[in-house]
Amino acid sequence: MLETRFIPKLDRSITRLGLGALPMGPLQLKLAPDEGARVVRAAVENGISFIDTACRYGTYEHIARGLRGWNAAVTIATKTHARQDRCLAERHIEEALRALGRDRIEIMLCHVAREPFTDDVWGPTLEALVRAREKGLIGMVGMSTHSVKAVGAATIHPEVDVIHPLINMNGLGIVDGTADEMLRAIRKAHDAGKFIYAMKTLGGGNFVGDREKALRYVFEKDYIDAAVVGMVTPSEVEWNVRFLSGLPIGGELARRTAMHNKKLNLLDMLCVGCGECVSHCENGALALVDGKAVVNHDLCILCGYCAPHCEMLAIRFV
Ligand code: SF4
Ligand code: SF4
Repeated sequence: MLETRFIPKLDRSITRLGLGALPMGPLQLKLAPDEGARVVRAAVENGISFIDTACRYGTYEHIARGLRGWNAAVTIATKTHARQDRCLAERHIEEALRALGRDRIEIMLCHVAREPFTDDVWGPTLEALVRAREKGLIGMVGMSTHSVKAVGAATIHPEVDVIHPLINMNGLGIVDGTADEMLRAIRKAHDAGKFIYAMKTLGGGNFVGDREKALRYVFEKDYIDAAVVGMVTPSEVEWNVRFLSGLPIGGELARRTAMHNKKLNLLDMLCVGCGECVSHCENGALALVDGKAVVNHDLCILCGYCAPHCEMLAIRFV
């Protein structure tokens, strides 16, 4: 059985393991909605009751189809990237409710990512979220971030219920500090009463080859209430659920979900064309084309040496 956490503000429990819906969508693996729906369905059938997505991820349809006819409670967290724009944030709330076919979104966050969390940029967005919370359209509001400082800013913000920070065993993707510094900030936020659910536990797929250690690193910390893990096949769902439930994992399931089944994926919207990854690939698998990194899959051996050199966390393995 997966561990659960009770969330008083929602008056319900969720599994500490959540399904991260980013990698299945158009920004990464580009699964068709029905294919993504099979992953979502496998997740809830295996006991997962928490799903994380965002307006930007393009996965509302995958989730809605996967949950069609499913009667048990599933908690959904999504995000709006509206900045300094209350009207756009309101449209994102309406879109989430409509596309997911729900009367209420349990958690909705400001999609802050690599930026500072300041009132001049995120104030109008938070205002829209708080108003929707008052109307009962949203259960809890908060923010997602890759920054230690932003976790600190959210910790002292009275309207923030939830913080969704980036944390993993190597600190991969943290923009302004180490993993230890992020952990200290997270612990403080948790002690201040914020609900914490972590992202990038597997470093955007970079740690799939060492996934046991990477998952333990996050799930063993009880001040991290939950963590979402990107999963793109029913087998990956099964592997994660069995591992975190302490159940044995057969050789065939381990092989089906191992690193060699992954592919390097470059996130165009994040790549700034610095060329750092190109100079660290000894296999000549990367090149810059029109200011963006591109991969030659025939040459890429999935060694992962390039990814830690990408400050934008644009290199993922899905
Ligand atoms: S290191 Fe990252 S940002 Fe720089 S070119 Fe490579 S993928 Fe793009
Ligand atoms: S994973 Fe290894 S082989 Fe593939 S592009 Fe990165 S450094 Fe090159």
